[in-house]
Amino acid sequence: MPSVDQVLSLVRPDILALTAYSSARKESKGGRVWLDANENPQTPSAAKPLLNRYPEPQPADLVAQLAALYRVAAAQVLVTRGSDEGIDLLLRTFCRAGQDAILITPPTYGMYVVAAGIQGARTVTVPLIREKNFALDAAAVLKAVLAASKPSGEGGTPEVKLVFLCSPNNPTGGLLERAAVLSLVKSLAGRAVVVVDEAYVDFSGQPSLAAEIPVNPNLVVLRTLSKAYGLAGARVGTTIADPAVIAVLQKVIAPYPVPAPVLIAALAALTPAGLVAARNSVAAIVAERSRLAVALPKLPAVKHVWPSDANYLLVEVADATRAMMAGRAAGVIWRDRSKDVSNCIRITVGTAEENNATLEVLSRV
Ligand SMILES: *Cc1c(COP(=O)(O)O)cnc(C)c1O
Repeated sequence: MPSVDQVLSLVRPDILALTAYSSARKESKGGRVWLDANENPQTPSAAKPLLNRYPEPQPADLVAQLAALYRVAAAQVLVTRGSDEGIDLLLRTFCRAGQDAILITPPTYGMYVVAAGIQGARTVTVPLIREKNFALDAAAVLKAVLAASKPSGEGGTPEVKLVFLCSPNNPTGGLLERAAVLSLVKSLAGRAVVVVDEAYVDFSGQPSLAAEIPVNPNLVVLRTLSKAYGLAGARVGTTIADPAVIAVLQKVIAPYPVPAPVLIAALAALTPAGLVAARNSVAAIVAERSRLAVALPKLPAVKHVWPSDANYLLVEVADATRAMMAGRAAGVIWRDRSKDVSNCIRITVGTAEENNATLEVLSRV
């Protein structure tokens, strides 16, 4: 079995050597008179939680609930400000500016390349195979990583430290084939970390890859409460990884990523009643997705609808600009993805009423 030590050898040496910032709330828990964090003893509002106090860096009850939700160990969990922060932390932890690279499989989520740009890491691209419903080209990804893994001195090709896979993929909607992802993870053991962004996996009915982390320490899974749990405004993402990888990410994350009001909102979403509500909401969205997937291709303006395991549909229309303009004129806003896939718009599955608006407007284009 591959060892996590190989993964740690991919971490930036300066990060490995870094001593993590130690916040007051990390150093002392309990006690009665808190005079260690320069907090104000008064709070502006009598409302709970008391906002004059710093929150727990990683609230133990939230970590426990998320670990249970995702069926992983608490030590594998890092709570972040949305999974976007998880992406940023991985970049800053693994990629040396001006030297290392990430690999992405376009068309895909835009934040990977943005986070790489901010860190000064290069981006290697291996497109998904459009003719196969945007399937992962695992052999091409492997080849690209190995080609780029020569020491930077020899020919100067940057070392790919992180491979970002999005499954279900945004904006195309389909899951990547589990066996292909796993075989890539195994082939890259000790060479690169594979990050599987599962922001939409709750809508797929398929199991997460997180269960594979204990035997594949170079696998990292990103989850979020933003989509299926309806908490995009609260910013609660989870990075799931080997405990040793989580420990390194802890060195890089800002001291208090979970604001006290956010903790309240997240815990409420994870109560038994909250979980039932989320399950019902996902079921309603999946049913509406099926309805749209049947109704959209019947419209003259619609050329193709890709199969979706997520809460949106990638729709090819005759003229994306015209479709977007018609939508905007009716107050219905979709996402123009034609820069990534020509004449394609990404339509989020909303309520039945909102989806009727989508159908009505597109039927007139
Ligand atoms: C929406 C989205 C995210 C961001 O999620 P947050 O947790 O809200 O930061 C991450 N990845 C993909 C693919 C997304 O579409």
